Amino acid sequence: MRREIHMFFLPFLAHGHLIPVVDMAKMFASRGVKTTIVTTPVNALLFSNTIARSKESGIHIGVELLNFPAVDVGLPEGCENDDLIPTSQDGNLEMITKFFQASLMLQQPFEKLLQERKPDCLVADTFFHWATDAANKFGIPRLVFHGISYFSLCASECMSLYKPYKKVQSDSQPFVVPNLPGDIKLTRNQVPDYVKQDAETNSTKLLKAIKEAELKSYGVFVNSFYELEATYADYYRNVLGKKSWHVGRVSLCNRKNIDKVERGNKSVIDEQECLEWLESKEPNSVLYICFGSRTNFTSSQLKEIAMALEASELQFIWVVRKQKNNEEEDDWLPEGFEKRMEWKGLIIRGWAPQVLILDHEAVGGFVTHCGWNSTLEGVCAGVPMVTWPAFAEQFYNEKLLTQVLNIGVAVGAQKWVRLVGEFVEREAIEKAVKEMMKGDKAEEMRNRAKALAEAAKKAVEKGGSSYSDLDALIEEISLRSH
Ligand code: UDP
Repeated sequence: MRREIHMFFLPFLAHGHLIPVVDMAKMFASRGVKTTIVTTPVNALLFSNTIARSKESGIHIGVELLNFPAVDVGLPEGCENDDLIPTSQDGNLEMITKFFQASLMLQQPFEKLLQERKPDCLVADTFFHWATDAANKFGIPRLVFHGISYFSLCASECMSLYKPYKKVQSDSQPFVVPNLPGDIKLTRNQVPDYVKQDAETNSTKLLKAIKEAELKSYGVFVNSFYELEATYADYYRNVLGKKSWHVGRVSLCNRKNIDKVERGNKSVIDEQECLEWLESKEPNSVLYICFGSRTNFTSSQLKEIAMALEASELQFIWVVRKQKNNEEEDDWLPEGFEKRMEWKGLIIRGWAPQVLILDHEAVGGFVTHCGWNSTLEGVCAGVPMVTWPAFAEQFYNEKLLTQVLNIGVAVGAQKWVRLVGEFVEREAIEKAVKEMMKGDKAEEMRNRAKALAEAAKKAVEKGGSSYSDLDALIEEISLRSH
């Protein structure tokens, strides 16, 4: 019999990183691995219900806490998740820098924990670059979790190796990403700032440290499945020579509705009410719009989206991160909008039960910012997507959806921007959502998306590609720790 192995998970302190790591820990635990998530008190509260419910169903996940030195670096007390970083005009750069500074300070208490608990393996987020050294100190393999697709991992690597954005005449002139399969075209405008910068900044220093740590680590852990991006999984492993395991989509371990609800923050809408609203709609008739946990839009952009939705005559659920003003109507909504849309649309102000909504048969399309979790959730729900990327590696995910998988319609965002999405006019939004929801092209995209959703399910079933890769990883760690 295999000796029980103990795995530590150290997720970055942001919803898009925390949510898949909790699912990942659950997945390992359900395969007989002892798992412990190491995080801070505020973040632990975000998934305490999930842990409690898993325990009731016989899946035990341990939690160890580290104090986050927010106040020591000049952040407000309790600012332990990047969702809680106060907003400012300059895109929060100063606060974000402080947040990373505090994250660096977790190294020492974390090493103490490694020494005491002696796990067999550590899966740590890419942003905790110091985790490789910490693990090496105790002879433990460290796996890197980027939380992004194989496609984006490959695209990032090719951009950094060949710097094609330096060889074009203007920011808007398209170039092909050299050596990346698929003839993928981008413009300099769409390349992340931290990739283009030559001068040393906090971001470029962080990127360098992350790269060095990855080279010294045991391998890379990817939340994706082989059938979705086989060409890029092979390219990453065989051409770029990276050791990696794909075990996704990790959240497919959550089958029941209740597990789809408790992800990240608490939903601001009663889930039952949300489901009842969806039940009253025809299959594939509702558009779902959500831009993840970090992207914001100006009031004028929100108004533009509202007008596009009304003009499209589609039914919709629209998640808006802006809170309601004290006044009768929000300043970002056209006058009388909510009254006119009473039966057609549902606006959720705050956190929505995204997976619960996406997986409902009434939902026929998703307008997304192309964060990897949302992208994968859309794929696994079998819906086509309107792509509206803003920052991080979201423009790469847009290309995967629109140019490789052919299940996406680009809204036309042209520029990489930090946290506040680029302005897109109502006509472009209306055109894209209609193209995704209605007509022959929509039908073809939906069929392709449904086939991918089927493949995703098979991948995590016994004998499937992700299931087998997870087995191989557990076996390897087990042998190694023996
Ligand atoms: N999410 C959610 N409700 C919301 C907003 C986001 O459940 O109202 C979840 C979403 O399902 C996904 C994660 O938060 O799992 C966002 O991750 P993603 O990588 O898509 O984007 P990020 O927030 O990191 O930009």
